[in-house]
Amino acid sequence: MTEKWVQGEVVNVKHWTESLYSVSISAPEVKFIAGQYTKISLNIDNEDIARPYSFVNSPNEDFLEFYSVSVPNGPLSTKLQQLKKGDFINVSPNNNGFLILNEVPLIDNIWMLATGTAIGPYLSILKTKDSWNNFKKVILVHAVRYNNELTYQETISDLKDIYGDRFIYITYVSREDSENSLTGRIPESISQGVLEKKAGVKILPDNTHIMICGNPEMVQDTTIELKKIGLKKHRRNSPGHITTENYW
Ligand code: NAP
Repeated sequence: MTEKWVQGEVVNVKHWTESLYSVSISAPEVKFIAGQYTKISLNIDNEDIARPYSFVNSPNEDFLEFYSVSVPNGPLSTKLQQLKKGDFINVSPNNNGFLILNEVPLIDNIWMLATGTAIGPYLSILKTKDSWNNFKKVILVHAVRYNNELTYQETISDLKDIYGDRFIYITYVSREDSENSLTGRIPESISQGVLEKKAGVKILPDNTHIMICGNPEMVQDTTIELKKIGLKKHRRNSPGHITTENYW
């Protein structure tokens, strides 16, 4: 089936670091559910190159936003990084993905674990006011290699202002010292009880749902650790506690 595209116009490109950037696009026809992804595409050397990207904006914001890392030799991500205001880009109106709250049981505590750019879909969800009706506490966990990859601090601080103690934000920086972040990796710190301690929230099967998104190996290793403490994968026909999405 040939893909249908909507032509969007770039309204802003924010460069966070040498490799991390966010592109905002005007394409009012594109509708989605917070947490989903779509495809975006550019014509590069006479070939249409398309890749999936998660929405960072909430569905009721004016512009679409995609958060990306330029992958060395990645044909699309390196070109997206060079876009300028006023450039055109194709966006698919057909959205996908199960990292959405309609798929998550109502529960006290929702944990949202991300590495790198995979924090994007959680920001889309958390900027959607209705999503906060479903849970008592939201624990957003972002693991990155370096301090300057802890992006979207303004959005996070706005959420903290609105939701106060209901919103817990925990960071990991794995490859340099960081004043307020945990060191190491998410799976090990779950098995050692470090993450629960930092959050001040217990991970118990009867009060927890955990979304995991990012580096496929992190998703796999974290799922293994959570299964050891009694959590299981959530499926429509067999409710559980863990919802996952590999980011590449
Ligand atoms: P990353 O390697 O995913 O690291 C981000 C964080 O996850 C780091 O703290 C890292 O810890 C940790 N981590 C890595 N493997 C893990 C595992 N098995 N279990 C638990 N934690 C783990 O780095 P990134 O900067 O977000 O992405 C790196 C590269 O991935 C990019 O440069 C790009 O090549 C690729 N990528 C591709 C796409 C795509 O769409 N193709 C999208 C995003 C990223 P350590 O420092 O200990 O490794």
